[in-house]
Amino acid sequence: MRLTPEQIERYSRQIMIPDLGGRGQIRLRQGRVLVVGAGGLGCPAAFYLAAAGIGKLGLVDSDRVELSNLQRQILHSTMDLGREKVESAKEKLNRLNPEVEVLTYAVRLDEKTAAEIVMPYDFIIDGSDNFATKFLVNDIGVALGKPFSHAGIVRLQGQIMTALPGKSACYRCVFKAPPPPGEILNCQQAGILGAIAGTIGSIQATEAIKYFAGMEEDLLVDRLLTYDAKTMKFRTIEVRRDPHCRACGEKARGKLKLASTA
Ligand code: ZN
Repeated sequence: MRLTPEQIERYSRQIMIPDLGGRGQIRLRQGRVLVVGAGGLGCPAAFYLAAAGIGKLGLVDSDRVELSNLQRQILHSTMDLGREKVESAKEKLNRLNPEVEVLTYAVRLDEKTAAEIVMPYDFIIDGSDNFATKFLVNDIGVALGKPFSHAGIVRLQGQIMTALPGKSACYRCVFKAPPPPGEILNCQQAGILGAIAGTIGSIQATEAIKYFAGMEEDLLVDRLLTYDAKTMKFRTIEVRRDPHCRACGEKARGKLKLASTA
């Protein structure tokens, strides 16, 4: 594969970065990313990936655009109210970069649909807003050997980590199982500042770009990055693979059953 003169011009400001270069750009062009959730995290993540020239983007979301989404879900506008989020998002992404192939799945990612949807992709961005989906993305990512970026946001805080199945700690190594319903508030109950979704979603896109560019050693693996916008502090917490992890531990290996509803 070769870059056309138009592509070289469009991506010139990142091609000139030595860590990326023309080779990294070609690898991005061949990359396939699945974005789970076209919401607060998925919108900025998909937007920057499309801008950067990712080859294929899959968008999974069963929701329609609501007025209360617009404060943070920056691919959707007032004119899109009532539309399927995946269709609204696809239109904006292709307006930005017609070269990107955008596939839409207006369904909820669940145990029946997950494997088939995830299979054709190289990297997953978890932009979901609930624990069941976060554990499902983890378990399917581990089972199929697909690297993924986990992120969570609430109020003025965010957290993010990348997992390379078989090589690094997974989300379940760190968080074990979903908390009892109602114990931890989600964005709908507790609120979220839109700009924080933008910060964390942008980091997710950065991780995917680094993955395709061959910067695997510098990914946010075995580390959980936390962001507190109130104090404007980023912290990195070292995390470890759990040998007894139900998704990626010794006993789970090779015979993993999706355990996300545990
Ligand atoms: Zn694990």
